[in-house]
Amino acid sequence: MQWFGKGSNNMEDGRGGGGGKVALGGGIGIIIVIIGLFLGKDLTGLVNQLPITSEQTEVKQGVPAGDEQGQFVSGVLESTEIVWEQQFSQLGLQYQQPKLRLFEDGVQTACGGASSAVGPFYCPADSKVYIDLSFFEELKNRFGAAGDFAQAYVIAHEVGHHVQNLLGTSEKVQSARRRLSETEYNKLSVSLELQADFYAGLWAYHAQKLDNFRLDPGDLEEALTAANAIGDDKLQKQATGEVVPDSFTHGTSAQRMYWFKKGFESGDFNQGDTFNNRR
Ligand SMILES: [Zn+2]
Repeated sequence: MQWFGKGSNNMEDGRGGGGGKVALGGGIGIIIVIIGLFLGKDLTGLVNQLPITSEQTEVKQGVPAGDEQGQFVSGVLESTEIVWEQQFSQLGLQYQQPKLRLFEDGVQTACGGASSAVGPFYCPADSKVYIDLSFFEELKNRFGAAGDFAQAYVIAHEVGHHVQNLLGTSEKVQSARRRLSETEYNKLSVSLELQADFYAGLWAYHAQKLDNFRLDPGDLEEALTAANAIGDDKLQKQATGEVVPDSFTHGTSAQRMYWFKKGFESGDFNQGDTFNNRR
């Protein structure tokens, strides 16, 4: 894809200096962080592996002009701002733009501390998307999902969680959590994640109609390859050789591809009810 805009005003750069390593925050924070994760990773055991220092990294606004990858993220974010402003205005609502913080190793958020090992995530408490760009290397080398549009899908998925936050969807899921069994809650989590994939597809449908945006041949396949690679069934099979559907939190490869594609093909906000139809 190509983006010819000026970039988003909502980028924060917290990289560099080897700082930013943080202790993981309290229990409630961890739970909120898990909601906005890109991957359905099992975080058990991860907590103890986190570096426990509290150095502060200076956070700068914007990204350096020569930073190609940072500029790419900034462009994708800007295109999501335009698309979601249109969508919200059609719903009679006002879109509030999220911030996007680039970090390295670890980061402190309003949802608690997180290590890069959890992958990209969204924190509803500070309306921020958090990405360590090294995840894109992992996406390519470990998950076999190369290409800029695979990366754009990751960003658009996290922005999808921001949309759910603004619309009160994530709040509803969280308040239901108390009265549900883990298996029942996991089903809701899958719906939430598949809807974020649908929103990512919906973003792509509308972004390609913008003057500043160009989709390249193969872009759609890049996103679908990524969605296929990070399905819960595939990740579990790779990790343990077994698949436990009750423990799914993000959906199968087939589901993730289906919902991204549905958003991309329809561009219709109203077709994204993953809570009554998970496929
Ligand atoms: Zn997610």
